[in-house]
Amino acid sequence: MSNDFDVFVIGGGSGGVRFARMAAGHGAKVGVAEERFWGGTCVNIGCVPKKLLVMAAEYGAAAADSRGFGWDVAPGRHDWPRLIAAKNTEIERLNGAYRRLMATCTSYDARATFLDAHTLDVGGQRITAERIVIATGGRPVRPAFPGAEHCIVSDDAFYLPELPQRIVVLGGGYIAVEFAGIFAGLGAKVDVVIRQQLPLRGFDEDMREGLAEAMETQGITLHRGKTVASVEAIGTTKRVHLADGTMIDADLVFSALGRQAYTQGLGLDAAGVETNGFGAVTVNAESQTSAENIYAIGDVTDRLNLTPVAIAEGHSLADRLYGPGPRKWDLDRVATAVFSSPPIGTVGLTEAEAAKNGPADIYVAKFTPMRHTLSGRTRKTIMKLVVDQASQKVVGAHMLGEDAPEILQGLSIAINAGATKADFDRTVGIHPTAAEEFVTMRTRTRVAT
Ligand code: NDP
Repeated sequence: MSNDFDVFVIGGGSGGVRFARMAAGHGAKVGVAEERFWGGTCVNIGCVPKKLLVMAAEYGAAAADSRGFGWDVAPGRHDWPRLIAAKNTEIERLNGAYRRLMATCTSYDARATFLDAHTLDVGGQRITAERIVIATGGRPVRPAFPGAEHCIVSDDAFYLPELPQRIVVLGGGYIAVEFAGIFAGLGAKVDVVIRQQLPLRGFDEDMREGLAEAMETQGITLHRGKTVASVEAIGTTKRVHLADGTMIDADLVFSALGRQAYTQGLGLDAAGVETNGFGAVTVNAESQTSAENIYAIGDVTDRLNLTPVAIAEGHSLADRLYGPGPRKWDLDRVATAVFSSPPIGTVGLTEAEAAKNGPADIYVAKFTPMRHTLSGRTRKTIMKLVVDQASQKVVGAHMLGEDAPEILQGLSIAINAGATKADFDRTVGIHPTAAEEFVTMRTRTRVAT
C-alpha cells in the first residue's frame, strides 16, 4: 500500500520549513502541517519581532544620546500601538513569505497528531507518510505559583495593546533581559526578579556582571537571589509577593521562566516516540527518534534551542534522507547573541569552562566606547578573549556592548577555524572601531585555572 507522502512535517517553523523545502527540492513528496503561524516562533513571536522592539528602544536612546553631538532633539512620547501595528504589518509580510516557501509542498493549516508511526490525523483527515518529521518547537513555561494566571508570557508581550508603566519581569534568561531592556528603553519602570545573583546563568561571568551593572545604570531594579511566592490582583494592579516578604506593585507581570518542548497532545505514544522527563523528543545524532521512520529537529528536541541550529538540523536531515548526504555544520561552537541593552555576543567557551580543560590565558578590555565619550551616557563595553594556554588557540570570545552580535559573527569564523592568539595579534585592526580591540589585546589580564 503506498503512502500519501514520502515525508510529512509537523510544524511550519524555522526547522520544519527548511527541511520541507530542501526535501521537496530533492524530489520528495512532502506534506507540512502548521496549526498556528507559518514561520513559527522566531518569525512571529520570537527573534524577529523582538529585534524590531529592541530597535525601537534603541532609537529612543539614540535620540537622547544625539544631544551630546549637538542635536537639539529629545525622545518625546513613544507610541506603542503605532509600533505594534508597524511590527504586525512586517510580520504578516514575512508570514506570507514563509507560506509561499511551501509552494513545492502540500501545506495544511491544521494540527497534526499521530495515530500510529506512519499515520497522522491532520485536521480530521487521515494521512499516511513513509517518514515523519516532528518540528513543533517549544512554548513558554507557565509558572505554577498562586496567582500565576495574572502573568503574561512572551507570546502575549508582542500583542499588548498599551505599554504598561510599571512592569515586573520574572527570570534572568535571554527573554527576561531582552524584554527588560525593551520595556525600560521605551519608558516603563522595570523590576527584574532573578533567583541567581546575576542574570544569564551559563554565560561568561564578566558579561553577566557587566550586563547587571548596565541594567541598573539604565534604571532597572534587579532583585537578586529572589523568587516569587505569589501574585495578587488588586484592581488593575498586580502585587508580586517575593518569598522574602518583599512586595512589588506593577501594571504587568511578565514571566520569562524558560521554554519547554511542545509535545503535549501529539500522540507520541501511539507512534512509539520516546521523550525525556521534560517532554522533549529524544533523538540520536542523526535526529532520529526511538521510532525508526520518525525524526525530530529544532527546539522540540531541546538540544541547542536556537533558530539557526533548527535550520541547520532540518537542512542536514533533508540532504541526508533525500539529497547528496548531510552538509556539515559545526554545532560545537555556535555563536549566539542576547539582544539585551547593551547586547552580548558570544562564541565558544567561557572563562570557567576553559579552565576545566587546563590553564587559560584571559584577556579583558573594559572601556567607554567612542560614541559614549560625547553621548553623556554611562555605558561600558567589555571584550574578552579566552585562550587555551597549551595550544594558544582562542577558544572563546565574548563582548558586551553596541554591535557585539555583528562583531561576533565574524569572530566565530576565526574561532571555528582554530585561530590562535598569534593569528589575532598579527591581524591589523580597523580604526577607529570597538572591534579592533579584539586584535590589540596585548597584555594578559589573568590566568584562569
Ligand atoms: P532561559 O532558560 O534562558 O531562562 C530561564 C530563566 O528563568 C533563568 O533565569 C532561570 O533561572 C529562571 N527560572 C526558571 N525556573 C525558575 C523558577 N522556578 N523560579 C525562578 N526562576 C526560574 O529561558 P528563556 O525563556 O529566557 O529562553 C528560552 C530559550 O529560548 C533560551 O534558552 C534560548 O535558547 C532561546 N532564546 C534565544 C534568544 C537569542 O538567541 N537571542 C532569545 C530568546 C530565547 P536559573 O538561571 O536559576 O535557572
